[in-house]
Amino acid sequence: TEGAPQDERETPNVTYEDIGGLDDELEQVREMIELPMRHPELFQQLGIEPPKGVLLHGPPGTGKTLMAKAVANEIDAYFTTISGPEIMSKFYGESEEQLREIFDEAEENAPAIVFIDELDSIAPKRGETSGDVERRVVAQLLSLMDGLEERGDVIVIGATNRVDAIDPALRRGGRFDREIEIGVPDRDGRKEILQVHTRGMPLVDEIDLDHYAENTHGFVGADLEQLSKEAAMNALRRIRPEIDLEADEIDAEILEAMEVSETDFKE
Ligand code: ATP
Repeated sequence: TEGAPQDERETPNVTYEDIGGLDDELEQVREMIELPMRHPELFQQLGIEPPKGVLLHGPPGTGKTLMAKAVANEIDAYFTTISGPEIMSKFYGESEEQLREIFDEAEENAPAIVFIDELDSIAPKRGETSGDVERRVVAQLLSLMDGLEERGDVIVIGATNRVDAIDPALRRGGRFDREIEIGVPDRDGRKEILQVHTRGMPLVDEIDLDHYAENTHGFVGADLEQLSKEAAMNALRRIRPEIDLEADEIDAEILEAMEVSETDFKE
């Protein structure tokens, strides 16, 4: 994830504007997470429990982390990340304790979102894991989620690209019982993502993002971000010979002339 370094435990600075495409998915996220967090009284009135866990699933680099951060930012919620593989390795032997601490911290700082990346590595189907540790960690996660109050002010978002590999016990009611698929973007989605990632760039007027959206079939958001950055770097390399490295400041004329053109995208 790009941008200035930030403490992952605070509210992230990603907004809905930073997400390209995924309109329907964002709508679902807002209904499942933003609505109950903003208006728990609606759910009380209807006599239904707000969700405790939402599972985002889909291929890598499609914006799952981005969505979780954006919704946390939008509702001004405390945000904390658990990396599945990390908690299973680095804290090996104390994973359960770590999980409990993270949940305690989230409840203390509610409203809060606990984001579990690569959930499948924490909670694979029990049959698939031989280890005692894995079984204990799944049990701990289940009990922590069961223990979350019904207020709906702490929501756990799990992300995975292997939804079928997740312990079915975690997908039952009161746990990760809502699922949103975050798929590979289509042409329009790719164009929106390119727009997001070239927003701050000085693009030559006639640059045709439609053309790149058309010709990047199979690219996910992370690939399109990379493509845009490389184009900008190519623009820099193009004017690079004109830059005097010894000078304290770059010539204003050079700065102004710096634009990203079609050829920069193609190279
Ligand atoms: P992983 O499974 O690898 O964790 P992910 O689905 O969580 O993948 P992100 O971390 O959200 O992917 O995306 C990586 C980067 O790619 C983001 O920081 C963002 O810059 C870019 N990106 C991905 N999807 C989108 C999107 N829909 N709109 C804009 N940028 C995107």
